[in-house]
Amino acid sequence: MNRKYYTDPFCTELHTKVTKTWPRDGKYHVVLEDTIFYPTGGGQPHDLGTIAGIPVLDVSEDGGQVVHVIDQPLEEDSVELQLDWTRRFFHMQHHTGQHLLSAYFSNEYGWETRGFHLGENYTTIDITTPELDPDTTIQVERAVNQLIYRDLTIKDYLVTLEEAAQLRLRKLPTVDEDIRIVEIDNFDYSPCGGTHLRSTGQIGVLKIIKTEKYKGMTRVYFLCGGAALADYQEKHSIVQDLGNELSVGSSEIIERVKGESAARRELEDKLKDVQNRLWEYQARELVSQTEDTVIFHNVQSESMEEAQALARHITAQGRFFAAIQAGNRLILAQSLGTEPHCGNLVKQHAVPLGGRGGGSPQLAQVFFQESSNLEQFCNFLQDLSHEFTK
Ligand SMILES: [Zn+2]
Repeated sequence: MNRKYYTDPFCTELHTKVTKTWPRDGKYHVVLEDTIFYPTGGGQPHDLGTIAGIPVLDVSEDGGQVVHVIDQPLEEDSVELQLDWTRRFFHMQHHTGQHLLSAYFSNEYGWETRGFHLGENYTTIDITTPELDPDTTIQVERAVNQLIYRDLTIKDYLVTLEEAAQLRLRKLPTVDEDIRIVEIDNFDYSPCGGTHLRSTGQIGVLKIIKTEKYKGMTRVYFLCGGAALADYQEKHSIVQDLGNELSVGSSEIIERVKGESAARRELEDKLKDVQNRLWEYQARELVSQTEDTVIFHNVQSESMEEAQALARHITAQGRFFAAIQAGNRLILAQSLGTEPHCGNLVKQHAVPLGGRGGGSPQLAQVFFQESSNLEQFCNFLQDLSHEFTK
């Protein structure tokens, strides 16, 4: 079987013959004489595309052969292969970019790559340093992009274990014969079974987009080529829209947003103050409207903050018992003395009615699932409150 993705990784169409095909789990497995489809391996996901117009669902390596999975049987022995080139080129740009980035970290800092993930949404490597500061990140990006501009040739060839021992390999091979070496023009030698570009210039650009601590190492997220351009386009558009929204140039956006946040915090403090004064005024009004020492009140906004503030302001103005309702919650507060004990009222009379809560002699709160139970508890308090007035 000829693995065309190795001999010509830029081949996107091929005519070939079916060697074997068999049904499995409602799908069809196919082995071909030649294939352009890369099977999952070495951190690089499998290719997609079509075989005789039927979409390829999966490609894997099994017993030394490449097995393609499709969901319809093939009618002919002779088939046309078509590769999903956008997906493959994305893989090639990121895989080659990974070689370059890993090689630079290793050569320049001695940080080795322990993990590699090439996904549809992001690509990462895990390098053996507990941290990567922003200045180093910028410096690494500059240097790696210089290597891209130099358009270094990328070659691959097979060597024996003895020959491999003579090369400055960045990592150890996982096989001991026919070791495939991917060389970036005397800069990096790496044993690898993936698909790569012809030269570093085809990576286009490499941008580190995020770093984070990971198991004592640093996980580096990066984008290459078309994906990096798409990311730049998206972020540029966001920055432009932000600038237009704030009527400032892009370099002033951060200062402007900081200023806006500070102004908002100041306004929030002022609003809080005004709100509290309003509640105090409402409490005075409630007090002035009663000749009693007992005040029942229902807060329309159902805000607990408002209910608590009203109870606090009412009891601050003399000898009172206040029951302030906010939705299905009730605040009890009193400034009459040791009795009635608000916490005990809740415990002894609200809890048996399904209420949940409690509190101190002066302040308690209770929540009812059912408003009818809350009403029952309020009626009980109304009856009882005649005793408080004495
Ligand atoms: Zn590789």
